[in-house]
Amino acid sequence: MVREHKTPMNKIAFFNTLKKRQEIFSPLKKNRVTMYSCGPTVYDYAHIGNFRTYIFQDLLRRFLEYCGYTVIQVMNITDVDDKTIAGANREGVTLAEYTAKYTDAFLEDLARLNIERPEHMPRATESIDDMITMIQTLIKKKHAYESNGSVYFKIDTFKHYGKLSGKDLAMNIQGARIDSDEYEKDNLSDFVLWKAKKEGEPSWESPFGPGRPGWHIECSAMSMKEFGATFDMHTGGEDLIFPHHENEIAQSEACTGKPFVRYWLHCKFLLVDGEKMSKSKGNFYTLRDLIAKGHDPISIRYLLLSHNYRQPLNFTLEGIEQSKKAVQRINEFIKRMESHKVNNAISDEGDVLERVTACKAAFCDALADDLNIAEALAQLFNAVRIINNFADTNQIGKRTMQEIEEFITMIDAIIAVRTEHDVEVPNEILELVNGRQKARQERNFAEADRLRDLLTQKGWIVKDTKDGPVPERL
Ligand code: AMP
Ligand code: ZN
Repeated sequence: MVREHKTPMNKIAFFNTLKKRQEIFSPLKKNRVTMYSCGPTVYDYAHIGNFRTYIFQDLLRRFLEYCGYTVIQVMNITDVDDKTIAGANREGVTLAEYTAKYTDAFLEDLARLNIERPEHMPRATESIDDMITMIQTLIKKKHAYESNGSVYFKIDTFKHYGKLSGKDLAMNIQGARIDSDEYEKDNLSDFVLWKAKKEGEPSWESPFGPGRPGWHIECSAMSMKEFGATFDMHTGGEDLIFPHHENEIAQSEACTGKPFVRYWLHCKFLLVDGEKMSKSKGNFYTLRDLIAKGHDPISIRYLLLSHNYRQPLNFTLEGIEQSKKAVQRINEFIKRMESHKVNNAISDEGDVLERVTACKAAFCDALADDLNIAEALAQLFNAVRIINNFADTNQIGKRTMQEIEEFITMIDAIIAVRTEHDVEVPNEILELVNGRQKARQERNFAEADRLRDLLTQKGWIVKDTKDGPVPERL
């Protein structure tokens, strides 16, 4: 009997950083998952270390979707901070112009890597009122205080401070304050919620005086705006556990009095020679760097996807070459099956069918075990070998082929590494591409964004090359 195999929802388990153990996943609402993922700061092109984390999130949501959940994901775009302001000043453009370029680039990179677009991608600068409201509540509840036009969160008013990262609140030096958004202090400090205006920086009016929000409050305000006080999952790279996520918990729970996030999932770093890939170390590749060297984004997707997210991954160019071969094997298998003629003369498909079903089940069960993709891919290639043998010996009957088709649907839905070439571009798409280009030349970025979104909805992205914009299938 063909058995539709999806891992039952009550068997899916993930490692929860908050609980420091693996737990069965059970969302607040049946069949619906609310997920918040910290997004990029759009001051430059994202590097592939960042994309390791975004691809982990993509695998997570694709797997949950395959298992029958509707996933609603919010990913913020940080379009105001020290780095974006410095970049805009350096280039002599407005902050909006400067960040629009890197937001576009980020969305294009997501599409090239087959990363599903989150349902909501709010910009920080569009959510300042929500942040101000939250800060006002925190002041009213005496969890925050004003000082010289800035506002700080007073960490010793939140007795659970440290519950995610394991930091000890006793290490807080009374009165110590930190203005910088990114810090790695063992001596814990009050952190900034609102920064008083500085000369030469954009600012917003607020009840505390002109200024701009700190980074941490951004994610609390934007997640709660969409999901309310409590939601299911929050994801990010391991560097965000402290201080960013610790601070998010403190200010959110202090504000609402309710638990903030139920499952925290963190992706380990992409490394280069044992060190974190990062802008500040200069040891990074952007996706564009690698494409310019002739690498295919789908092979890069596979490389970043194919290692378990809770283990560090060392990046090498040979790793991309190996991934390319794996992608080719998957694509060759799919093509072969699409044109394979079934053997209608087989009366009993029992054994063959059962083996294919078992491979499919093993693939899903591995992912249900804290996204064990390494095991899932081992099962996938085992299945490819077994099914190819059946095809060589003409043992694939009609029902077995149906099961294989479902298996391929599952690979496409979760792994998403199909490579297709020579696609013809319809006129309607060309017109949208030309319209977007014209809008950009006229610096009408809102219209350019609108047309880009329309293109994405229709399944296309635009690659901006030296020879002008080139549309590509998503
Ligand atoms: P950022 O733009 O620096 O805030 O980073 C965006 C996302 O990428 C965050 O979730 C970071 O934790 C993650 N990230 C940054 N560097 C790496 C790395 N080398 N490997 C994996 N994830 C990273
Ligand atoms: Zn965040």
